[in-house]
Amino acid sequence: MRLIDGHLDLAMNGLDGRDLTAPLDDLRAADPVAGQTATVSFPELRAAGTRLCLGTLFAMPRTPESPGGYVDAAGARHQALAQLDQYRRWEDGGHLRLLRRAEEVRAHLAQDTGPLGVVLLMEGADPIRDETELPFWVEAGVRIIGPAWGATRYAGGTGAPGPLTGAGKALVEAMRDLGLTLDASHLDDAAFWDAAEIGGRMIATHANARALVPGNRHLSDEMARAVAQTGGVVGLVLLSPFLQAGWRLGDPRAPLETVAAHAAHYAGLIGWDRVALGTDLDGGFGQEKCPAGIERYADVPRLLSHLPAHARAGVAWANWARWLETCL
Ligand SMILES: [Zn+2]
Repeated sequence: MRLIDGHLDLAMNGLDGRDLTAPLDDLRAADPVAGQTATVSFPELRAAGTRLCLGTLFAMPRTPESPGGYVDAAGARHQALAQLDQYRRWEDGGHLRLLRRAEEVRAHLAQDTGPLGVVLLMEGADPIRDETELPFWVEAGVRIIGPAWGATRYAGGTGAPGPLTGAGKALVEAMRDLGLTLDASHLDDAAFWDAAEIGGRMIATHANARALVPGNRHLSDEMARAVAQTGGVVGLVLLSPFLQAGWRLGDPRAPLETVAAHAAHYAGLIGWDRVALGTDLDGGFGQEKCPAGIERYADVPRLLSHLPAHARAGVAWANWARWLETCL
């Protein structure tokens, strides 16, 4: 089986001191990140059959848990530039290949060997000081931007309700005009509907179904339909509290049937050809919060056997492939 993953925070992990070029067992033995058992490394992605992923530029804001986070646009930009440099160093080392356009994706996916393909996705737009800087990031290879994470200067986000700000409307309009795609993951409803009204392509790289897990982190049925109406795809997140309502650390990890339930719910709304993967593994959590049966990234293909046989290849590969080859 071949996989495309719609959401991995690779550079964040690299800059946290994880050597993603190492076999996972070696990475775990030398892991500087405490309390989160790593699941992702490049050899591990290869073992799972992953040929391409959306790789994030994610700037962490200052919070009580991350006192080193940014407090202004300059600080956010600094983090994103460091992550961009990390991806370029990996590319120089032959560990991945940055893909900027649909033609490059087509050529990459036509090959069964070679390094991981990575399409850059900015998660949280605070690193962009204003919309006039978008061409810089496009030139750097960013094709997809999620305006929010928590609230940003641009939009209300997860756990921080609010609309697009004035700057957010200007950003989303400029994204539309440049042909960039908006990642609706993390957008609060008010900001989501503001963005939908502005128009342009939308996807949700990593968002489960709110009908099964309440909260503004997840897509309402109406939001999932709106994403699909722009031709977009939604990626399933492999995080127990996002799969099972009320899940807490220490509970038995969510069974893979819960992933299948989110997938089936989406399929009922927008069809199986719009449902894909956005695992977010090692995106601020480790094996401890993965679904049961996913002990490391190479286990990800196991979830496919819980899906209807006719849907497996699309969820694993073909739905992102089609979108990337036509819309990027
Ligand atoms: Zn995220």
